[in-house]
Amino acid sequence: MNITAENRKWLDDFKLSHPLVIAGPCSAETEEQVLKIAHELKDSDVSIYRAGIWKPRTRPGGFEGVGVIGLKWLQKAKAETGLLMATEVANAAHVKLALEHDIDVLWIGARTTVNPFAVQEIADALQGTDKIVLVKNPVNPDLALWIGGVERLYNAGIKKLGVIHRGFSTYDKTKYRNIPEWQLAIELQSRFPDLPLICDPSHITGRRDMIQEVSQQALDLNYDGLIIETHIDPDNAWSDAAQQVTPTVLKQIFQDLRIRKETDDADEYNNRLARFRVDIDEYDGKLLEILGKRMKVADKIGALKKEKNVAVLQNKRWNEILGKMILDGEEKGLSEEFILKIFKAIHQESISHQEKIING
Ligand code: PEP
Ligand code: MN
Repeated sequence: MNITAENRKWLDDFKLSHPLVIAGPCSAETEEQVLKIAHELKDSDVSIYRAGIWKPRTRPGGFEGVGVIGLKWLQKAKAETGLLMATEVANAAHVKLALEHDIDVLWIGARTTVNPFAVQEIADALQGTDKIVLVKNPVNPDLALWIGGVERLYNAGIKKLGVIHRGFSTYDKTKYRNIPEWQLAIELQSRFPDLPLICDPSHITGRRDMIQEVSQQALDLNYDGLIIETHIDPDNAWSDAAQQVTPTVLKQIFQDLRIRKETDDADEYNNRLARFRVDIDEYDGKLLEILGKRMKVADKIGALKKEKNVAVLQNKRWNEILGKMILDGEEKGLSEEFILKIFKAIHQESISHQEKIING
């Protein structure tokens, strides 16, 4: 897949002096709700209005969207406000209806991106159209599957592509609804610099009081835009109530966000940055050295366990280590989440070293 600067043109054509903003309710609920929110967002930084018409829900029985009637409301909102309209499509029938109702931007939801059959069906249905198509990351942190989804659309001749980073499901409870795993999106950005990258802080956080912070993080990582769920009465929204903000709060978020330049040619800046990078490189080298040493000790323990015929995994010892590291980490300004992640990875590597010795 060769995504060139040509693909970025759809974004450049908005001629914005700030990141692209897509906003609107999680779901279209009533005609009045759709129109009211659209009017409140009309003279703001918002360029594209979002509303889900078909809602993929984790369990049956919840509100599954108003269906095709909602497309008529979006058409009306577009005529009245001039905003471009965006909705989620999950199959060929949705695409057909969205095209018939002149929807400008189609996005593929996280639960659809995981399914190559569904994405291919959507790509086939979109062949020959000039719609903007945004692919959300799959629910699982699988970069190849995400890229594969984009590739199916690219192969179908879609020339206005973008991606939405909405975070990833985990079994572990974290402060996020879907953990961001920023490094995955950053890798995608560096491999496809002309594929606009949009952050969805609403679905990453699941709670409105964290939207500002995560939006700022995304802008600091040079994201091209934000998609933020916005509702006139968030607490009574029919879906995703906890994460939606009012149009007034959304406008305040824009005011408070700091948009930083991607680079600055001033020597002073470059010199200071270079020095910081030297420090970082040095610490990274030290980390590797220490990890190597630690694994050598693990090897020795493996040899001892083999000699005495003892099991590799010693749960009591491991839980003691973790508890201590979380406390010590806190003192050094390291989050519990980070400590757990890094020590679980180190532990896993120790175990595989020891397995090799015991079975080798
Ligand atoms: C949505 O945007 O409302 C939605 C269902 O998102 P996701 O596919 O990210 O869960
Ligand atoms: Mn939602």
